[in-house]
Formats: sequence, structure tokens, C-alpha cells
Amino acid sequence: MKYHYSSESFEKDFTYTGTDLGASWYPDHTLFRLWAPTADDAAILLYESGNAERDDLIRKVPMYRDIQGTWAGCAEGNLNGVYYTCQVTVEGRTIEACDPYARTTGVNGNRAMILDLASTDPENWEQDRDPHFDTPINDSAIYELHVRDLSIERYSGIHHKGKYLGLIEAGTHTKAGVPTGLDHIKALGITHVHLLPVYDYGSVDESFFDHEKYNWGYDPVNFNVPEGSYSTDPFHGQVRVAEFKQMVKGLHDNGISVIMDVVYNHVYRTEGFCFNRIVPGYFSRQDENGKYSDASCCGNDTASERSMVRKYIVDSVNYWADEYHIDGFRFDLVGLIDTITINEIMNTVHKKHPNVIFYGEGWDMPSGVTKKDIPMTTQRNAALVPGFAFFNDTIRDAMRGSVFYEKDPGYACGRTGNRNVLTSCFFGAPGWALNPEQVVNYVSCHDNHTLFDRISTALPDASREERILRNNLASAFSMLSQGIPFLQAGEEMLRTKPGPRKTVLHNSYNSPDRVNSLKWSCAADEDIQETIRYYQGLIALRKAFRCFRMTDRAVIRKNILEKSVENEHVHAFLLTGDNERVIVAFNADTQPFSLNLPDGSWKVCIRGKIAGTRILDTVSENTVIPPLSTLMLVQNPADFGSLS
Ligand code: CA
Repeated sequence: MKYHYSSESFEKDFTYTGTDLGASWYPDHTLFRLWAPTADDAAILLYESGNAERDDLIRKVPMYRDIQGTWAGCAEGNLNGVYYTCQVTVEGRTIEACDPYARTTGVNGNRAMILDLASTDPENWEQDRDPHFDTPINDSAIYELHVRDLSIERYSGIHHKGKYLGLIEAGTHTKAGVPTGLDHIKALGITHVHLLPVYDYGSVDESFFDHEKYNWGYDPVNFNVPEGSYSTDPFHGQVRVAEFKQMVKGLHDNGISVIMDVVYNHVYRTEGFCFNRIVPGYFSRQDENGKYSDASCCGNDTASERSMVRKYIVDSVNYWADEYHIDGFRFDLVGLIDTITINEIMNTVHKKHPNVIFYGEGWDMPSGVTKKDIPMTTQRNAALVPGFAFFNDTIRDAMRGSVFYEKDPGYACGRTGNRNVLTSCFFGAPGWALNPEQVVNYVSCHDNHTLFDRISTALPDASREERILRNNLASAFSMLSQGIPFLQAGEEMLRTKPGPRKTVLHNSYNSPDRVNSLKWSCAADEDIQETIRYYQGLIALRKAFRCFRMTDRAVIRKNILEKSVENEHVHAFLLTGDNERVIVAFNADTQPFSLNLPDGSWKVCIRGKIAGTRILDTVSENTVIPPLSTLMLVQNPADFGSLS
């Protein structure tokens, strides 16, 4: 029965506001501070190694009860590289746990390590910064990537396969000479890489880190520690920290910002989580009978409304922004985290890092919140968290069909009768958003089928050629709509997740590499090269024309006009920018459609299977949108010098 944790009196007595929780290293001593208000005794145990199976205690450092529920202690000497755990006597039991504020750990995250953080900094780290520090969020193009997927395939040409360092190898290519990894991402033109979980998670045994073991990583163990299996040495705590920073620096040096997928909404093992061991059950929502709330379907929901959970999450996000120069955070199931916490995170991080962007999955979830009248960070509550963006499942489902029925066709597969929804999505106004800066547009992410697979499940008899056309139609609609464009890595390579007997997998969270990896071995195929160029073109056009990146709803309503057309498969829009006028028209019909044009001559930037800033043709009066494709026309001779 832990409900009193959320009482006013508990919070008044035991809310610690200092910034020194965890181990603070100094050259000749280390200070420890642990929040454990219900403990009867606490101490730090220093160890030789980070392996919890080794009996190599160095000594015990006593702690004394200090202010606001914390315990404090000090150990003499230079302890950089020394491992430690927290020993706490609580409710009559003495337990040992990792420090919730651990900066790094030994293998599998059981023992924390004292670390001189500055010693892990790459060269010129002080000068390192977000290459997109001064641009609004919807100038971004976000690429969602799993560290291992990028490099693990045998043909990737990348040396550090499955590792942080594999993300920053330049000049890699397949045997056929097709650029892979970093070079591929750079050429695509994306601005931000969004990494699936890279904090320490529990489902991959780091001690066998060279065996094939795969997981997306939505099972947090140590929130402030990089995952060990992506480092070249998970046994020595400083290595993962140093290599993670090298990765960030390397991406920044190549003009790419870094977003982390953070999973504060639940923990891997409810009662095994160090915070829940030190302060029994404090971190997770429980009812009066001690039953854990489980809206996350992972066994527990985080009690973000409690003062020291809130502080923990705020401190953690701020730490990643500060120490690792992270440029954005994607919150998993943020509908389980309250809006007060999210606003506090944004305000705290933005004080020093105004560039950092925030978005998440704002689904409504019935969680057992331990305080009354605490609003959750859902799409519906978007107005309560201005500056925080949400995944737009409206455009996803409109384009692809329902995620719950794999044969349900979306617009790109021939569905009609959804004109108002599609129009509102093109305007960046799916109903719940304050403005397009709150809208993350996507037609694929790690969850559910890849875009190409989803088109195949809806239209199993369609030719490969037809499926590619429909793929490109969906991506163009998403990418050219107002909002923040987002794509799953490999969407531009017609990524597929092959299952048994010619099926395709929709949930590959622990599937082997042959399912999840990016297939560089196919990258030289002509139709894949063509598709990569198409995506490059879409991203380049978004960057070239401000009218795709408007931020104000009233301006959008004034500057985008939907043209009326007599075909329910066709949507056509006229956009007015600072200098240019742009027509974007989508044709999901298997027949060509003849489009009447406003006065003047129009330059063609997207037609058929080609998209980009190179002019394909000049047309006037009317033109044809080929079947299953997007057409984009531009008018403004004055501005055309910038295009080639
Ligand atoms: Ca781990």
C-alpha cells in the first residue's frame, strides 16, 4: 500500500530539489547522495569490477540521513572507474541496487560506476553543437533508426557492425559501390536521426554481446546510461559513454542532429527496477491494494505525477541534452506521462538548449494515476503542452489504412470518401493540434508493417511496379503536408520485414537481424535506386520551398487553396509562398487525370517516378497527372535561379 507516496505531507517532507543526486566525482574524493526517505539505513558498496557475479567488494562507505529524504556519504581518493551499488535497509530488509542516477554501469547495468565524465569527451566537444540549432521544428526531416539495423547486414561495408561507431563511418559502400550507412543518410538529406532506445535496456544480454541478439529496447533498466551492447566493450563503463559521445559528435559534424527515443512511461521489471527497490514501489502507479497499473501493457506505468519521479525524468532528459548534446526527444507512450512533467522538462531543457525538440505518442491510455485531476500528455490535451508534437496517426491511417486490419486500403491503395480528413492533414490540422509544429507526419515507423509491406498486405495481387508507385504516393502526401516529416529508416529503400512462408512481419521487436536489418545487398536494384532518388527529391523540395513549412494556422488557411476536381481519387492544392506559387496534386486513380491550371506557365518538379529540384518540363493551361502518382508544379520565374 504505497498510496501515501502521493500525499501532500509526504511530498512536503521528502521532495529533494538539489542537483547532486548520484555520485559526484572529484579528483580526490567522490560524494554520494541517494533519495531513500523510507530507508532505515543506507550505504555505498565500492567494487573492483562491474560484474555483479564477482565477489570483489573494496569497502563499504557509510551514509548519513540528510535533508528531504536523502542520504549522503563521501569516499576519499580518486575513484574514477570504481564500481558501486547502493545498500538500503527498508521495510526490514537489506537490499542492494544500482544507483537510479548512475552515469554509467558495468555489464548489464547491475553495478554503477563512478566516472570523471570530462574524461570521456571527444576532442572539440566544447565546440560541438546541434547543426540545426536555429531552425524551427518543421524544417526538420526525421529518420527513425535502430543502431543495429543500419550496419549489421553482412554487405553493409561498415566495420563497426551493430555499434554506435557504425553510425559514423564515412565512405562505406556495398560491393556494387552503393553508398551505405552514414553516406546514404547524408545523401538522403534528412536533418535528424531519431534513434530507437539507446539508454541501457534489459532484453539483450550484454555479456554475450557478439552473439546475435536483437531487441528494439523498449525495456528500460538504467535511464541515464547508454546501452552496453552497442558499445565495443560493455564491461568497462567508460567505453559506452565515450563511444556514444563520439557518435553524436560524428553525426553533428556531418550536419545531422540526434534525437533519442525515451521510454519513461514504464520500466523493464517492475519490482526489480532499482528505484522501486530503494523506495519500494515509488516509481510505478499502484492502487490501494498494491496492484500495479498496466496501461503500458509492460507490467507497470510510471507515476510521473509524484514529485521525485517527476524530478527524476526532468533531470534525466536534461542530463542527456547537457552531457550528450542530444537535440531531441521522442517520448514513448507519452499519454502515460502528465502534462506538468512534460512542460517542466521542456522549460528546463530549453533554458540551456532552446534548440531541443520534443514529440511523442499521445495516445489516450487508461492508467491508474495516483493523484486527482492530473492531465496526461495526449493528442487531446495538445493545447496544454504547446511546443510538444505528436505522431499524426490520422494521416498514417488515412494513407495506409487502419493498423488493425491489414487488408484495409488507405488512400494510397485506392480508398475514397475520406476527402475532408486528407485535406485537414495536408493543412497540418488533424483536429487535435494547435499548429503544424505539433504534428509529426508519417506513413511508417518501427511499429506495424513497413510502408511497402503494408501496401502489399492491402493489395496482394498488385505488381511490384504498382506497389512502388503507391508507396511513393503515400510518402509524397506525408512529406508535402504541413507539419514535421518523419520516416522509418529504409522506407526510401522499400524496406520489408520478411516473415516465414512469404509473409511479412508487423511486430519485429525481437526478430533476428535478417528481418530487421537494412538490406544493403538489394540497394543497387534499379527500382530501389529510383525510389531513393524520389525520396531525396521530396526532402530537397521541402527544403527549397518555405510554403511546405508554414507554422501558423491562419497563414496556412490563407495560403493553401484546395482545388475542386471531379475525381474522388484526386486531391489538388495551390500553395502560395513568399515568392512562389506551387501546385501539388495527388492521383490515386489507376487512370491519368487531366488537371486544369491557373494562368501562366508552370515548371514541373514532381511527375511520375521523378521528384526533385531539377525542372522536368514547363506546362500551361492543363497537364496530366499520371496514374498513381504525385504532380508538383512551381510558378515564379524570379525565384528560379535557386533551382537547377
Ligand atoms: Ca543493457
